[in-house]
Amino acid sequence: MSTHSQLAADGIIDADGWPNVGAWRFPPPIVRLVADKHTPLTNTAAVISTLLASQDNGVAPGDHPVFVNDGCELKGRIDSCTRGNTLLVGPAFTPDDVVACTETMDCDSVQECMLQEEPCAGRTGCICRYPHQARWKYVVAHEAGHQVQNVAVGAFSQVQYAFDCAGPNCPGVISDFFPGDLVDPPWTTPLCGCQHLKSSNPEHCLQSIERSGPAQGEGIAQFFASRVWNLPESSQCGFAYYKEFLDTQCRTVNPEDCEPATTPDDLPILDLDGNQFVTSLPPVQVDCRNPARWRNQQVCGIMSGAGGLAGDFGTEYDWMGFLYNLNRPSDPNAVAATMDDIWLIYRHGCNFVADQPPSPNPPRCNAQTMVWDAAATAEAGPGGFLQGVQAQFAGDLQRIADVEDLSDSFGVGSDQAP
Ligand SMILES: [Zn+2]
Repeated sequence: MSTHSQLAADGIIDADGWPNVGAWRFPPPIVRLVADKHTPLTNTAAVISTLLASQDNGVAPGDHPVFVNDGCELKGRIDSCTRGNTLLVGPAFTPDDVVACTETMDCDSVQECMLQEEPCAGRTGCICRYPHQARWKYVVAHEAGHQVQNVAVGAFSQVQYAFDCAGPNCPGVISDFFPGDLVDPPWTTPLCGCQHLKSSNPEHCLQSIERSGPAQGEGIAQFFASRVWNLPESSQCGFAYYKEFLDTQCRTVNPEDCEPATTPDDLPILDLDGNQFVTSLPPVQVDCRNPARWRNQQVCGIMSGAGGLAGDFGTEYDWMGFLYNLNRPSDPNAVAATMDDIWLIYRHGCNFVADQPPSPNPPRCNAQTMVWDAAATAEAGPGGFLQGVQAQFAGDLQRIADVEDLSDSFGVGSDQAP
């Protein structure tokens, strides 16, 4: 029997090599838990450790299983995801069109030139692959945010990313989740959509206009990733975005990290004047401290196009900043909403019933439609974030008014001023 058991190259203990003693695998006296490099397993462990060590981490009692090297499949692509209370991270995968390479510059988008799971490093037989998702620390923390929310709050209706389009003129990318529907509403502009995405699914992205519930659900996950990777006392907040970002100009100082924006069919994405938009390749540095008011500034068309109320729509970009500043206000004299406050706001918001006093212990959310203001919406029988705030901070009118002001400055509430 060997006296040592090393970690395999992928960072996983090779227990299959341990000798059998009766029905049991019997470990050697010493198991060396030392890997000489980062692996998907150690990366994921590092994210989870950082999350758990963060101040007021928001983790409610309950099971939070984490699996590495698995994900959710969508049209042959596998992405990290959260399924209920379970976090799945990974794996690396090869696109259907196998492209041989000698260096990463040969590969499209965020693909890397790899020999199986390893960087190619000048060897032969390399192909372009999407690297393991554990490479992206904001992706892992984002999905962990969905997981932590799921245990603490449950889920409201937060995955309806697609929009139907009746009539002859329905341009755009078709949803994979909802066949026949579009990933972006037909009335919005390219800057408020995801048609420029190539590295991952275009159902939703940081800048896309979505119904408020999905914008809030993804915004919670982005906010959660931001609070894992930023210090609470810092006046700044940096978010490393892991999908392509569309804008009128390159968002990084390195022009090689930008390219002309095209649809997945390689059609150029143009503004109303026929100018070509630019795609910044990930990771894209995004400010999660200061308001972008993307929904309002970029004239996403929510009033003219949808004929709706501003509070029925949002972007995850705006919700990320709003929740971050609610939880970690830049003004040291402001009262912060704790993670418990935020989770209870959602539970109150989901269980709002007009003209009834809120329950002191509202149940978890269970697929309710979620908007900004349930008292001013085109949705039927919804929950509302504002109603959650009114219940959680009942009697403190100044605090409720402060949250409304914050919502206006970030463009997640009723106000539609650019
Ligand atoms: Zn998400």
